[in-house]
This record gives sequence, C-alpha cells and structure tokens, in this order.
Amino acid sequence: MPENTAITSEQIRKAAEIIKQTRPAYTAMLEFYEQIFTAQKDSESRTHIPPIQISEETLKSRAKENIPLLSLSEFAIDTESSELLFREICLITEKADNHISAAARVIRQAFDSKKVDPKILFAALINEDDVYFENISQELETDKKPLAFIAYNSIQPSLCLCAEQVSGFRAQVSGFCPICGSKPLISFLDGQGEHVLICGFCQHKWQIQRIFCPFCGNTDSESLHYIYTEEEKEYRTDVCEKCRSYIKTVDIRRMNRPFYPPLEQIASLHLDIKANELKIEN
Ligand SMILES: [Zn+2]
Ligand SMILES: [Zn+2]
Repeated sequence: MPENTAITSEQIRKAAEIIKQTRPAYTAMLEFYEQIFTAQKDSESRTHIPPIQISEETLKSRAKENIPLLSLSEFAIDTESSELLFREICLITEKADNHISAAARVIRQAFDSKKVDPKILFAALINEDDVYFENISQELETDKKPLAFIAYNSIQPSLCLCAEQVSGFRAQVSGFCPICGSKPLISFLDGQGEHVLICGFCQHKWQIQRIFCPFCGNTDSESLHYIYTEEEKEYRTDVCEKCRSYIKTVDIRRMNRPFYPPLEQIASLHLDIKANELKIEN
C-alpha cells in the first residue's frame, strides 16, 4: 500500500484549495497546515535515514509475536534535514499569526542563538522525555506544547520513511499501529471499500476488517455504528458503543480532491467537536 510519499506538494495545495471553498471557516487553519505539510513534503527528497539498527531476525520475531516492530525511540531521524525543516516550520508558524506564533518566534530565536539544540529536542521527543520538555520550555519561558508540535512536525518525514523501511515485516492486523504501536489518528475506505487505519505517529497505513473497533477489538455489528450527514458524503464517524470510542473515516470514493490524510484530519475537526459533545472519545 502506498504511504504518504505517493502525494505531491502540488496535490496537497490543490486539496486544501478545494476544502477552503466548501468550508471557508477552515481557511486560516488550512493555510497554516498546508504550508507545514508542503514543507514536509519538500523536505522528504533531502531526507536520508540510515538503515535501522535492528536485525531482520528481531523484526521477524516481533512481527511473529504481534508486537510493534519499533519502539518510538528506535526510529531513525535525519537530523540535518529535520533541523532545516525545524527552522522553516518556526518561520511558517511565526507568520501564521495564530495562538502559537509568539512561542514559535521564541523557539526560532533560541535555535538561531544555539540555546536549543534540535538534535537533543528530537531525541527527547522520541524518547518521550517529558522532563526535558518541561525544563527547556521553562528556560525559554514558553509553553512546551508548541515546542513539541514544531519538533514532531520537523521529524515527521523521517518517521514516515523509517516506517516504510520496515513495513515489509509488519505484524498481524490489529487496532494499533503494527509498526510503532501508536493509536490510529484517522481512517479511510479505499477504492475497493476496504477499511484502512492511519497511525497518529508514523503515518503508516494498515488494513483492518470492516466491522471492527480499533480501540477495543469489538466486532459485534450491533454495537458498532456510524454518524453521517448528507452534506459531507466523504466523511463519517465510526462509533463503538462498547468502549465509547470513535474514529473519523474518509471515504475516498466520494472525494473530489487528492487525499492527504493529515489534511483531512484538520479539515474534519468539527466531527471531533460533535463526537466530544456526544461524550465519545478517541
Ligand atoms: Zn505508527
Ligand atoms: Zn470499542
């Protein structure tokens, strides 16, 4: 199955343009994310990650035991290209004039004056070192959320390429990412109507059975349903009554634009608001 590398920056721009026309309320947000996503896409061609330092034997045995192939800290990162992207994302965020623009300026200035070493920041992110994020954000007198947001988005091309590198070994199908074990962010129905989940961390895609809750494994059609409106034929929210969870699903057969999952995740935030009102979580 093709990963996100199958789509071009131009197609992302085109998709964003079409969504802005139908949902103008998203314009500012989409303009911001469109720049981040296209910067990531452009960064992909200069991102080269070394082969993963895990033997084929280990990968095979993890797949056999049905455990994630990589822990988050085992992902390899091209620090050089990620650093370039880091600065670029800071500048995009500064110019966006949104709630994290001021923080992005502080972070970019700290990077330029070498008060922040992105290499350490990236390592802290994949090692889930929250203490480091607490300390550095205190030192810079900024919030740690924008720092984590910028750091994650800077290493995103490496994470995707890394996931692709090991995807041949992937474990048996389950609701959690077979590559890294993270929760799915969004899902889609492909051209054949097959249900495919997309990882919230490494963006790996994997197919699941049609009647299945990724969060609790429920396969009882009585307690699985979806919320759908005629106005937005390409979207639905799959709900599991058993664990009160949901996942948004994009039906790409009903779309009039190129499909880029991170963009659709942003353009469907109203569905998350609706789900939260119904007290279902994801
Ligand atoms: Zn993953
Ligand atoms: Zn469930």
